[in-house]
Amino acid sequence: KRRIAMMTSGGDSPGMNAAIRAVVRMAIEKGCEAYCVYEGYDGLVQGENFIRKFEWPDVRGWLSEGGTLIGTARCMAFYERPGRLKAAKNMVLNGIDALIICGGDGSLTGADKFRAEWPGLLHELVENKELTAEQVEPFKHLNIVGLVGSIDNDMSGTDATIGCYSALSRICEMVDYIEATASSHSRAFVIEVMGRHCGWLALMAGVATGADFVFIPEKPRAENWKEEMCKIVARHRQIGKRKTIVIVAEGAHDQDGNKISPDMIKDLLADKKGLALDTRITTLGHVQRGGVACAYDRYLATLQGVEAVKAVLEATPETPTPFIAITENKICRKPLVQAVLDTKEVAKAIEAHEFDRAMSLRDTEFSD
Ligand code: ADP
Repeated sequence: KRRIAMMTSGGDSPGMNAAIRAVVRMAIEKGCEAYCVYEGYDGLVQGENFIRKFEWPDVRGWLSEGGTLIGTARCMAFYERPGRLKAAKNMVLNGIDALIICGGDGSLTGADKFRAEWPGLLHELVENKELTAEQVEPFKHLNIVGLVGSIDNDMSGTDATIGCYSALSRICEMVDYIEATASSHSRAFVIEVMGRHCGWLALMAGVATGADFVFIPEKPRAENWKEEMCKIVARHRQIGKRKTIVIVAEGAHDQDGNKISPDMIKDLLADKKGLALDTRITTLGHVQRGGVACAYDRYLATLQGVEAVKAVLEATPETPTPFIAITENKICRKPLVQAVLDTKEVAKAIEAHEFDRAMSLRDTEFSD
């Protein structure tokens, strides 16, 4: 029987458990054995108890659970070849030659590297007499399929990542809570949301909550952003709005690359010579990652998990490593390497202050 392993890696996101459930059950449905690797690449490097066989009932109730029940970790050892050598050995010892990974672009980059090195790693293991030629013979090719788990929706080539809509829902819920008290006291709130190189959460939350002003990394505000923001907030106040909500992505900055911090915005709104608003800062932090997965993430993770198993079973040695995307509402396979390169390009463009290029590389259409 073919053995397929599932792993979660990098930052956790709601919907990862739904993906595990889908992969485990689809693998069993297709006559394969399902395995889970605990604690990301750490588990693969350590082997033994970290690699466990899963049966159908083992994932019962996992569809809605937040986070990942098989653990995730950042693993230094996997960046280095000796770590990957140990991982390859553990795969062979467990009879596994297919790995489905749900993680961010870092995790998926590591996976593709692992696949490219695979024949060399096996060769080395035989040379070192850690494994015999007979042992490695059935595992000539490694199959890797990526699923993108990230609350930031920061992967190029897909419209949504597993977890982003749960995080967005959570942010909106939190802003709703804040709004009640903001209106009561006529206060202003500066809300910091996650997203280092990606303003998707901030932008979508801004639209969905009717925020007064939004700051995102991809589109820095013009030099006069201070005047612009105060003018807009003042206008909203004049027409009777009793609350002010400003949403700022953690990676927001001005056109010169200077960070725009919640404190700066607060000081501006509270300035006694200006708007003089009673202003508070709320950093949402890890509540954005927590809680149950929303309906969309459960659905996305399930369909993509099923597709990932199909991709494993249909892969040939020539197939470039795929990841499972959703594009215009269709689940599809795309080459992983290109998507990772595009994603890294966006981050590089933002760091180099080439914002138009960053915007053109994003899949979401932005406009003024
Ligand atoms: P994410 O997957 O969320 O982007 P990281 O970038 O931290 O998170 O990657 C998670 C793990 O994936 C790392 O701790 C490391 O074990 C592995 N990894 C990431 N990039 C590479 C790489 N270039 N080569 C090998 N392993 C990598």
